[in-house]
Amino acid sequence: MPMSSRLHDHLARAYVAAMIAAGACLLVVLLAHQGGYVTEYAPPAIMALAIGVVFGEVFPVKLGPDKGEVAPSTTFAFALLLTAGVSIAVLAQAIACLVADVRDGKPAVRTAFNAAQYTVALWLASLVLAAAGHTSLPAHFGVSDIAVLGLAGLVFFVFNAAAVTTAVALHSGIPLRSVINSDLTFHAGTEAILLGLAPLAVLALDYSPALLPLVVLPLLAINRAGKHAVLNERLALHDTLTDLPNRVLFRDRASLAITAGERHGRGVSLMLIDLDRFKEINDALGHHVGDEVLRNVAARMRSTLREVDTVARLGGDEFAVLLDAGSGDPGLVAEKLRVAVSRPMEVRGIPLLVGASIGIASSPDDGDDVETLMQRADVAMYQAKTSEDGVRAYAIDRDDSSVARLTMAAALRRAIDDDAIEVHFQPQFDARTGTVSGVEALARWQHDGDWIAPDEFIPVAEQTGLIVPLTDRVLQVTARELARWLASGVEITAAVNLSARSLIRGSLPDRVAEICRSWDIPPQALILEITETMVAADPRTTVDVIERLAALGTPIAIDDFGTGLSSLEVLRSLPLSMLKLDRGFVTGMGGDVRDQAIIASTIALGHRLGLRVVAEGVETAEVRAQLSLMGCDTIQGFLLGEPAPAGEIARLHARCAAEASDARRHSA
Ligand code: C2E
Ligand code: CA
Ligand code: CA
Repeated sequence: MPMSSRLHDHLARAYVAAMIAAGACLLVVLLAHQGGYVTEYAPPAIMALAIGVVFGEVFPVKLGPDKGEVAPSTTFAFALLLTAGVSIAVLAQAIACLVADVRDGKPAVRTAFNAAQYTVALWLASLVLAAAGHTSLPAHFGVSDIAVLGLAGLVFFVFNAAAVTTAVALHSGIPLRSVINSDLTFHAGTEAILLGLAPLAVLALDYSPALLPLVVLPLLAINRAGKHAVLNERLALHDTLTDLPNRVLFRDRASLAITAGERHGRGVSLMLIDLDRFKEINDALGHHVGDEVLRNVAARMRSTLREVDTVARLGGDEFAVLLDAGSGDPGLVAEKLRVAVSRPMEVRGIPLLVGASIGIASSPDDGDDVETLMQRADVAMYQAKTSEDGVRAYAIDRDDSSVARLTMAAALRRAIDDDAIEVHFQPQFDARTGTVSGVEALARWQHDGDWIAPDEFIPVAEQTGLIVPLTDRVLQVTARELARWLASGVEITAAVNLSARSLIRGSLPDRVAEICRSWDIPPQALILEITETMVAADPRTTVDVIERLAALGTPIAIDDFGTGLSSLEVLRSLPLSMLKLDRGFVTGMGGDVRDQAIIASTIALGHRLGLRVVAEGVETAEVRAQLSLMGCDTIQGFLLGEPAPAGEIARLHARCAAEASDARRHSA
């Protein structure tokens, strides 16, 4: 049953007051009875330890990221306990608390509470020592003394931990159980090290007070390790160029924000920001200038946003923003960001202009997990690239079928997650020899027992961003099958259809290279099909990605050639290896002289440009014969083979090869 916050306040105050009173009384009594111990140590030695206590409190040791700090005063306070008795130890510790807290400007109550808590803890530890007969000094350590010291340390630690966690629990109203977190064992370990150093300090002192500074060395080592851990974590979670959070930290913060938002009934907005013209600047003016531009852009975005918002660099020229619920309309913020980024800048004396395209997705409407929101912000960003104002919020087509589309999108996502998207392969034939020279990979999806046509689910995948994992899946399966074919002597190529979404992904070339490497297939055997419309959407980015893909050695085919608007421009500007005549021209060409003229000229054009020409949609023997006469290199269509599971391709390949060699024998 939750207690009222008023009651909590009262309890917390009473608890703190009781601790302070108990500590103060104890301190007075202990100081009055100083002399329980008879110390042999000279005042300078005692003084040295007392200074150690103060220093230890003022210079806490860093333990690592999110692990906080620990005061090594414990080492010296325990050493004092062993050498000078409890009253000197508590006095030194109380002074140390005072000095440290005054320096940090902590409220007096905190200081009093800390000092009181240490006083009681040290006193309890001294009781353990006294019970074991350590009432006079010098304390010469034997093995049994180590156990006694350990017990005293344990009492000290448990009391301290309990006192602090109780205070925190009472103050915040959080149940005690949750306050005692998993870090407890870690802190106990550190505390054990600090306590273990106390007898070493005493031994050093026995020998000469001048050796005391040696005890500080292990503490410095702990401190250094802690600082390193903090630094490493910073490096792991931040982008070194801009010092902004990186993708990992961004996702982490976003998922925390979504969960917190759900609890408070508030939405969270994610933005993906892609710079326009950055590539150009980077290529033309060099990486130094490019880096400087990214740093400028990062600073501008940072200063446009509120402190509570997160801006991260995801890589390349891609940034992301996590907008706090209180930061206002995401559309307006996006506009402000765009204005800030597009202001003219001067780098190394060169005046420059960069733009930005921003896609927005918000929970809970567009999704309730980071993955979905990122994907949808990405889709919106892609739309923003072709829009007038460069900002788009995610919106699935608001047409009649939008519910059906949403349902399909959800089912498709599951199918992709479950690897339920299958890949069929349609054979392609060498027009001269009639052998199988390649295949085209085509995605297949069976949902609730029905096959859904790619023309239905591919557009949904495009619109929801699911096309990116889908393409990846098709690439993987194709590479796997291709590796098998090649290994069994079936020398063919395999073509995969890319999507416009994948083509504005700067990461696609690396992914393709990785897939080729992991399946050990030559990149020349993996053909990538693109269309003119994909390039038209964002020529600059796509051309760059296509050039990098071609540089890997993967042949690029232009698909559905002739259906776009800029066919000739595409032929001129892209590193193509292949041209696929659209089946709209091919299927009916038998009786249409104009189609025949277009196809004959396109084949000639392709050949003049050094491209292989593939005709798809070949359904009749007549069309096949015409294409052969026109010099078409490769033919694909229902006449020769429909898309089929991978297993059938090897059989078909063997059969065609046998037929071809038969035919050669007969003609010879
Ligand atoms: P596409 O790339 O032009 O693929 C060829 C389509 O033509 C396939 O349809 C194939 O089955 C069909 N086809 C083959 N021969 C004939 C024929 O003789 N006559 C006729 N009428 N059709 C023939 P499918 O598999 O339904 O794919 C339709 C479209 O869906 C593809 O057109 C492609 O744009 C897209 N698609 C399919 N799989 C993928 C994929 O894995 N990724 C991407 N991005 N798109 C895909
Ligand atoms: Ca295709
Ligand atoms: Ca096609």
